Amino acid sequence: MTSTLEQPKNVTREVTPGVPESRPTMAAHIRSAITEDQICILTFDRQDSAANIFDRATLDQLSEHVEAIATNSRLRGVILASAKKSIFIAGADLHSISQCTKPELEGLISLGQSVFQRIANLAIPTVAAIHGACVGGGYEICLACSYRVASTDRSTKIGLPETQLGIIPAWGGTTRLPRLIGLPKALDVILGGKTLAAKHALKYGMIDEVVHKEYLLDYAQRLLRTRGTKLMRRKTPLLVKLANTGLASRLIAKRVQPQLQKKTRGHYPALPKALEVATEGLSRSTQGSLELEREAITELSKADTSRNLVRLFFLQERAKKLSVGPDLGKAFTKRVAVIGAGVMGAGIAQWAGGRDIQVLLRDIGAEQVAKGMGTIAQLFREGLKRKVFTPVEARAAMDRITPVVGDVPLKNVDIVIEAAVEKMDLKKEIFRRLDQLAGPKTILATNTSALSISELAEATTHPERVVGIHFFNPVHRMQLVEVVHGRHTSPEVVGRAVKFVQQIGKLPVVVKDRPGFLVNRILMPYLIEAGHLFENGAGVENIDEAMIEFGMPMGPLRLIDEVGVDVANHVAETIAAHFSARLRTPPLLGAMLKEGLLGRKSGRGFYVHDKKSKGTDMNPGVDKYQLKTSAAAFAREELRNRMVFLMVNEAARCLEENVVGEAADVDFGMVMGTGFAPFRGGPLRYADSVGVPQMVEEMYKLANKGEAQFAPCKLLETMATHQQKFYSEKGAVL
Ligand code: NAD
Repeated sequence: MTSTLEQPKNVTREVTPGVPESRPTMAAHIRSAITEDQICILTFDRQDSAANIFDRATLDQLSEHVEAIATNSRLRGVILASAKKSIFIAGADLHSISQCTKPELEGLISLGQSVFQRIANLAIPTVAAIHGACVGGGYEICLACSYRVASTDRSTKIGLPETQLGIIPAWGGTTRLPRLIGLPKALDVILGGKTLAAKHALKYGMIDEVVHKEYLLDYAQRLLRTRGTKLMRRKTPLLVKLANTGLASRLIAKRVQPQLQKKTRGHYPALPKALEVATEGLSRSTQGSLELEREAITELSKADTSRNLVRLFFLQERAKKLSVGPDLGKAFTKRVAVIGAGVMGAGIAQWAGGRDIQVLLRDIGAEQVAKGMGTIAQLFREGLKRKVFTPVEARAAMDRITPVVGDVPLKNVDIVIEAAVEKMDLKKEIFRRLDQLAGPKTILATNTSALSISELAEATTHPERVVGIHFFNPVHRMQLVEVVHGRHTSPEVVGRAVKFVQQIGKLPVVVKDRPGFLVNRILMPYLIEAGHLFENGAGVENIDEAMIEFGMPMGPLRLIDEVGVDVANHVAETIAAHFSARLRTPPLLGAMLKEGLLGRKSGRGFYVHDKKSKGTDMNPGVDKYQLKTSAAAFAREELRNRMVFLMVNEAARCLEENVVGEAADVDFGMVMGTGFAPFRGGPLRYADSVGVPQMVEEMYKLANKGEAQFAPCKLLETMATHQQKFYSEKGAVL
């Protein structure tokens, strides 16, 4: 058996009585076994897949097993387990759900609810023995059990992430979790879309015990033997009872509602809906509450928000599996050298060291390397606080990073990642030297934000092994990495770079070597326009608020402060130099740079970043850079349109120039790389929702006033003429 869980030794029967032993047409996804002491073990083991998921077939099979269990009066208890290496049950089959019609979805939700309810109604105790990812429907079935034990293994993650997909847990999660752990904690999990490590889930009360994975199944059996039906008679703690009373739950809802509104500006309807169902559900019977769940999910899942969020989930899954170039088998990166121990170099070294890779970290002097190692130590300390690492893991990871000064042999290094300062001459010099030091199979990568990979490659004798591996700042938070395919880069090198990015748990997008690649190319016209708007009299708050209302995680001027005015100005100038007919860096940025107003790093930029104001106060010191003072000239809608149109225009140009292969790559890159309003699905998906012809018409109005940057690109023009969209009507990309 392939299980990570020991097969119980005292199994007498391999099937549940009443359940057909073999079905000629249907793959069995659940196995049943009965031990000598009459404990039924249902093992989820989806055929031809590394994951267990709930689709209609699995729910039907589960239903039959539950029926057989309910009619077998000899059974003393039931255990739910998984045979997969790192997955218990990964939730519902999103692919089929996203294609369901409304009645089909209602049917599927009802089926899941009724099967789980029948588990909850069994006359014998049920124990969920959880090892591996146990999320969404996977955890909802556990909530229907009498008791939950989980393995302490790293792969065990427990939670209800549904609201992140624009829906709510509707197979009993929104109903049962508040009853189990009390409304406040349940809301924390459900509204946060949280997935927690086993020990953390234990603290929340989401599970009852944790044990080592080797003992999990034995322990679950022992529980049923020794405690039997006592497992079914759990007392509701007083605090849970108090929090769930009608009055308390109404008060909680009243407090949470405005917080949600403030945080989401009404863009994520699943959140207020989950709050409503969880609160209102407590005043109803379980059945009544399940009904509320059903109504809510059918309404939410057909809305654009949920469709866009589910699509993004699929795009992330696609990036995890992306394969480019020749088959590389199980090629793993073991050793990496990072050149430059500054913000990015230290971030990359820390991330790779934390993912089992040996890292050499090099800079020009001992002081710079020491500073980089200090940054790395600080990142591990923060990781420890957030429980990303145990102290032992953090120490081992730190030990994998070796600081070096001066030339060292790089013959055995798989990938060198250069993250020195952004100057072409300096980078060329570094690459010439790397070319001599590296082994024949070593990949030479650069983390440059906007310089040409192809030009850099020409400084080496083997330009085919030069590639861009462009991480975003801060490295430990940003999942996206652009793999930049230079003119000379070989497909194998691109493929190995993609594999490396996936190996360290980041999401790759392969882009062509054009100025700014994909994300900075689209972002810069937006930031530049924000600068011009400020120069022309729009207020900092007005500009930033316009984009926060649109759904961006922060406004463009705050983003410039966070990135650093120096970095933003440099990238803007590099990109604007290539597209000078339509892009002109606002002089304001250069002036701020001269005055030392660099944003967060210098304490002042568009905002004041000190302890007292916590970055919320505007810096009046920048007002002198405004050329006009009439803020009233710009309504919020105009501000938003101007900034968003430029992103859409540039995104369409990236498609025209084949920077990426398809619209979905652009949208994926922008959401993952900049936080572009996820519920809108990305700039091109947004253009579709507005209508390309309508947007083009508005762009012309601005362009005709003499603002060349708004003239729509050829692709947009053609699409507007032919009334086309970037995505097919269903929006399916996969
Ligand atoms: P940084 O100024 O923080 O660090 C650069 C480091 O490179 C310094 O420690 C410097 O001493 C070192 N260095 C200079 N010459 C060197 C040499 N010959 N050999 C070894 N080390 C050398 O810069 P950063 O922000 O980390 O940026 C590094 C690269 O990453 C740049 O190409 C930048 O465009 C790119 N990048 C930056 C960001 C960002 O937001 N900071 C984001 C993505 C990419």
